[in-house]
This record gives sequence, C-alpha cells and structure tokens, in this order.
Amino acid sequence: MSFTLAIVGRPNVGKSTLFNRLVGKRLALVDDQPGVTRDLREGAARLADLRFTVVDTAGLEEVTDDSLQGRMRRLTERAVDMADICLFMVDARVGITPSDLVFADILRKRSAHVILAANKAEGKAADAGVIEAYSLGLGEPIRMSAEHGEGLNDLYSVLMPLADQYAERAGDDAPETDVDLTEDEAEDPDAVPVPTNAKPLQVAVVGRPNAGKSTLINQIMGEDRLLTGPEAGITRDAISLRTEWNGVPMRIFDTAGMRKKAKVQEKLEKLSVSDGLRAVKFAEVVVVLLDAEIPFEQQDLRIADLAEREGRAVIIAVNKWDIEDERQAKLKSLKESFERLLPQLRGAPLITVSAKTGRGLDRLHEAIMRAYDVWNRRISTAQLNRWLAGMMEAHPPPAPQGKRIKLRYMTQAKTRPPGFVVMCSHPDKVPESYSRYLVNGLRVDFDMPGTPIRLWMRGQN
Ligand code: GDP
Ligand code: GDP
Repeated sequence: MSFTLAIVGRPNVGKSTLFNRLVGKRLALVDDQPGVTRDLREGAARLADLRFTVVDTAGLEEVTDDSLQGRMRRLTERAVDMADICLFMVDARVGITPSDLVFADILRKRSAHVILAANKAEGKAADAGVIEAYSLGLGEPIRMSAEHGEGLNDLYSVLMPLADQYAERAGDDAPETDVDLTEDEAEDPDAVPVPTNAKPLQVAVVGRPNAGKSTLINQIMGEDRLLTGPEAGITRDAISLRTEWNGVPMRIFDTAGMRKKAKVQEKLEKLSVSDGLRAVKFAEVVVVLLDAEIPFEQQDLRIADLAEREGRAVIIAVNKWDIEDERQAKLKSLKESFERLLPQLRGAPLITVSAKTGRGLDRLHEAIMRAYDVWNRRISTAQLNRWLAGMMEAHPPPAPQGKRIKLRYMTQAKTRPPGFVVMCSHPDKVPESYSRYLVNGLRVDFDMPGTPIRLWMRGQN
C-alpha cells in the first residue's frame, strides 16, 4: 500500500502533462467503477523509486468561470478527500489568478498535506510568477516544468518523507470508514450517518514508557474506546483512535500499544522512541506527556525537540499531578527546567494533569485547541510589512563587509506551522541573530506562543 497524490488546479496549468509524465502508460481509467466520479482519472505513478496512485481532475477544459464554484469545486473537493497528499499546480507564466485563490482556499480547508508547484517555470519569464506563488500561503513552491521534466527531483524530495509516513500508516485505521459519499447517497434521507468530511484534528500523545499515555488516552476516549479501540493483542505500528473530545473530532495516535511487543528493556526504549517519532510525523498537535516524578528525562527532551523540528504544535503535559503535594514549588521548578532544557519551545504551554482522575483534562483540551489555532495562524502581508518596517527601524539589519542588507518585503508563505519569507539583498549574509530577532518579534507581536516559526531569507532580482 502506498499513498494517493491528487493533482489539482485550474484548467490549463499543466496537470495532465504532469499526470502523463508520472503515469507513462500505466494508466488505469476508473470511469467504470461504480461510485467513482467520471471526471477523476487515476493512474499508477512512478517517480524514481516511489510508487503511488495519482489522481487528476481531468476534463475540466470546457468549464467556464461561472461554474467554478460548482462543478469544479465539487470535483476538486472529491479529489482532495480521496488523496493523502495534494499537489496544487499554478502557472508561473500567468501568475496567480482569482481562480487559483479559490483552489487554494479549498486546499487550505480540506487537505493535511499540500505541495505547491509553479509549473511552466522553464526560463526566466517565470521568475515573477514563482515568487508570486509564495503569496498563496501554501509554502515554498516547487519550480517545475512538467513539459520538460524539470523540478521532478524537487518533487521527489518533498514526496519521499511523506511517502514513508503513508506507507507506514497504511492499514492502521482499517476498521474506520472515511467514505466519501456519492451524491446519490448524500441525498438519501434514509442513509446511515457516516463520518463527516471534516478532517479530525490529529493529536499524538508521546512520552517515555509509564508516563501515563494509555491512561490518558483511555480517559479521553471514555466509553468510546470500547467501540473504536483496536482489538487486544494487536501489534500494529501506530495505532490511531478516532473520537470526539468536547465536541471536536480528533484522531489520537497512541504510541503505547507498541511496547507490548517489546520483550527486553533495551528494545523497549528503542521502540518507544521510533514509535513516538512516527506518531509525531502523523500529528498536527503533539502532547509530550511527562511523569511529574521524573520530568524532562533524556527521552522526553529528544521527542519534544523532534516535534519542534518537525514543525508540530507542542504541548507539555505533566502527568500524575494527583500524587504531588508540593505543587507550587514543583510547578516553579518544572517551568525553570522547561525554559532551560527546551529553549526551542519557548512559550509552549505547560499543563499539569492527572490522567488517572481526569483532572486538568479540560485545560489540556483548551491548550490543544489554542495551539492548533496558533499553528494555523495567518497574518496579512500588509500587516507583516508594516511590522517589518518597525523592526528594521528599531534594529537595522547589519552591514557585513560594508554591504547593507536590504529587507524588501515579507510575506507568510505557509501555515501549519507558520512560515515566512523575507525577500532581501544578500540573503546568505543575514546573520542568524537577526533572523532570531525577527522570529522572536513575530512570536511576541502576533501572539504565537508555542508554535515553531520558520523564516526564510530569499533573494530577489
Ligand atoms: P491541465 O488542463 O491543467 O491538465 O493542463 P494540460 O496538461 O492540458 O496543459 C495545458 C497546456 O500547457 C498544454 O498546451 C501543455 O502543453 C502546456 N504545458 C504543460 N506543462 C508545461 C510546461 O511545463 N511548460 C510550458 N511552457 N507549457 C506547459
Ligand atoms: P504508558 O506506558 O505511558 O502508556 O503509561 P500507562 O498509562 O500504562 O501508566 C503507567 C502507570 O502510571 C500505571 O500504573 C498507571 O496507573 C499510572 N498512572 C498513569 N496516569 C497516572 C496519574 O495521573 N496518576 C497516578 N497516580 N498514576 C498514574
């Protein structure tokens, strides 16, 4: 089992060209299969050593702009919901059009993984369009020419880590139904209720063995676990549980189940780390669960650092608070350790809980929702540039070797986590300390605690 990639975008940007390149002759038309919309084309794709399924929203050439809101939107949504990863293609020669914005919006709302590709980017004529693509807020665009086969290496390097993750995930949620309704079913009043298309918030609970992960998840799941939990004795690599927690659909990655396989202590430690690692990759929000008695152990620090590097929203939850009696003093020392040992997670919430009694779980829920919100935060380009001007006035960028660095323009390139691009002269000369100054400023001025913030310096001709 592998993953499914949907190629989406407005007509004429080059989707079919890329589709054909990836699929070659290995095309499998899905038209005749019941329940599959005719307008989606599916093929077995190959890119270097990667094998995956690619879906193309073909046959949209005749669609006029008027029906963009209708048919095209539905079709795209369907492709997005079928796919694990979406490749959103724009035309770098034309630049960003209003239709592109409609697509970007759909993707932002519905897809966990979006790869942005600026196609037709062979030659200099496309430079402006590639830069403009940053403004979609979907990350750094891959510069591509589907027709000439350029940019496929970059596509490969973006897909590869995701492919790993989906390969491992395959089958982990077999008992669940993520069924996309066909329209007929959707209108059938007698249809059995099925899960909505709203993507559940993906949460991983990680931490060392015995921190209380299973207890916490059981407490969150309540009765639900009996319905959705994996059968006893199951030894899947990552177990995910679907639930609603305080009304919010969530998918919780349980990293505890794994250790039941382990026989010896050494193996146990190892498994627990790699299993946690996998859960982190799946998650949007990572809860690092510490044991109040032995907080911030090496293993905790490693997984928290990993979560930050993977760009996840992170929450530190200190468990077994029920057996703590010097709470004030303990909390103070925990906060000190946190700041000293995990400076890269500055401002992340630290919540005390008792998985056993359920105390503090509402606060944990709140912290998850808030972290998720910050992680998705979007700041307008106008606001950013006003802010950047102020920052430069307060502290002008340095002038290495007498050459003043000019920061020209700033925009948010992505969310989840927030990432920003600063267009400047001599991007490679901007010192780390100045980038840090900007990142810390963003964190404070736009109220973004506890989320990783990415900043890229880029040159512009
Ligand atoms: P779709 O409607 O998005 O599937 O777009 P197509 O794949 O049918 O491509 C639309 C037009 O753009 C065709 O004439 C292609 O030959 C052309 N095209 C596709 N990729 C490229 C490219 O990388 N560079 C240039 N210059 N043209 C391209
Ligand atoms: P896991 O290995 O992280 O899944 O940890 P478990 O959930 O299996 O818990 C390990 C041990 O800690 C068990 O004996 C639990 O009963 C205990 N435990 C878990 N949470 C709490 C808590 O909030 N308070 C107390 N006192 N014990 C807890």
